[in-house]
Amino acid sequence: MGKAYIVGSGPGDPELITVKALKCIQQADVILYDRLVNRELLAEAKRECQIIYCGKQPAHHTMKQETINHLLVKFTKQGKTVVRLKGGDPFVFGRGAEEVEALAKVGLSYEVIPGITAGIAAPANAGIPITHREMGSSFAIVTGNRKNGGPRDVDWKSLALAVDTIAIYMGISNLGYICQELMCQGKNEHTPVAVIEQGTTMNQRVVTGSLRSIATIVEKERVKNPAIVVVGEVVRFREKILPFQQVNVENFERLHEGGSRW
Ligand code: SAH
Repeated sequence: MGKAYIVGSGPGDPELITVKALKCIQQADVILYDRLVNRELLAEAKRECQIIYCGKQPAHHTMKQETINHLLVKFTKQGKTVVRLKGGDPFVFGRGAEEVEALAKVGLSYEVIPGITAGIAAPANAGIPITHREMGSSFAIVTGNRKNGGPRDVDWKSLALAVDTIAIYMGISNLGYICQELMCQGKNEHTPVAVIEQGTTMNQRVVTGSLRSIATIVEKERVKNPAIVVVGEVVRFREKILPFQQVNVENFERLHEGGSRW
């Protein structure tokens, strides 16, 4: 019998992967990887490793979850070491749980290798601590892609009132609605908001504003997915430390006025 590994590859920077995840990639017979996985990591695989892309297919639809589950089970049953490689952490909006269920149901052995999730890493790289003793003692990880007001919409009211920092995944196309909801439910319209596009990569871009202004700014700047929206006072910390932080490209270029990267 083989074994399946449900692996987090980290937020984008290929060096932000765990040692354990890297070992999995190096030992895999089959790798099933997602769109947000940094392709550089695939170079670590064995030459004979079978590498299968599970993101957007040529017909522009994503591989169905049932197909992915089926492949996972099939290859593992064949006695292979199978790695299901996902962006960030596999259990944070990654459907990792569904894959674990599919494997468990047929009695196959598996292991979950956590990864650094984008909702913490992207803000960190933009100079925003997700918690801070004075600015934020609680944070929530939220999906922003629920249909407006639908039955499975997130509880924006409780979030607005009870949580200091909100990290929103997949929130770009719904940003106007989300901000409106938070303001209607009692969050101050001046609450600072940052949006980090392609966090921890060389293409990282950060825009900031308030709950009132950010949707317009994001539209004007054409910010696209993948991006994390951070709502909360912790965003102000970025302004305080920006002149001293040199880890991200944007700051570096700002400091060195268009000088070469690194
Ligand atoms: N499992 C992943 C999340 C998958 S959902 C994790 O733990 O990070 C996909 C969403 O994650 C994207 O739409 C975006 O909101 C966010 N995301 C993933 N990588 C990102 C990155 N490098 N920068 C900003 N947001 C990112």
